[in-house]
Amino acid sequence: MSTLTGRNTRTLTGYVATLLDYPRVIIERQVDFTDCHLGGGFDATDTRCSACRYGAACCWLNTNRMAPSPDMPLEELLLALHTAVDYLRTPSDGEARHPGFCECHTCSWLREARGFLRTHRHRT
Ligand SMILES: [Zn+2]
Repeated sequence: MSTLTGRNTRTLTGYVATLLDYPRVIIERQVDFTDCHLGGGFDATDTRCSACRYGAACCWLNTNRMAPSPDMPLEELLLALHTAVDYLRTPSDGEARHPGFCECHTCSWLREARGFLRTHRHRT
C-alpha cells in the first residue's frame, strides 16, 4: 500500500466495495441451500462442501456476505472481486456464453470489473 495515498486508498476501496454489490446479489440468487446440511454455512474442511456444486459460490458468499468494512485491505477486496469475476464469467449449467458485445447487467458488470482489475494488477 506504499504507493497509495490515504485518500486514493479510500476512494479505490469504496469503488471496489461498490463493485462487489452486484455479484453478491447474483450469487445469493443462484445458490440453493435447500439441501445443504449446513444451511449455507461453508466449511472448507467439509468434503461435502468441496464437492458441492455451489461450493465456490457459497465460499465466496460466506466471505463477502456483508458489505466490506471501510478498513478492509485493498488486496482482499481485489481478490474478492477477482473471484467474483471468475465466477460470473463462467456460464451456469445449460447457459450459453454471452457474446462479447452483450449489454446485459452481468456482462456490463464484468467489463467494468475486469477493466478495473486490469488497471490495478499490482498484486504479485
Ligand atoms: Zn450478457
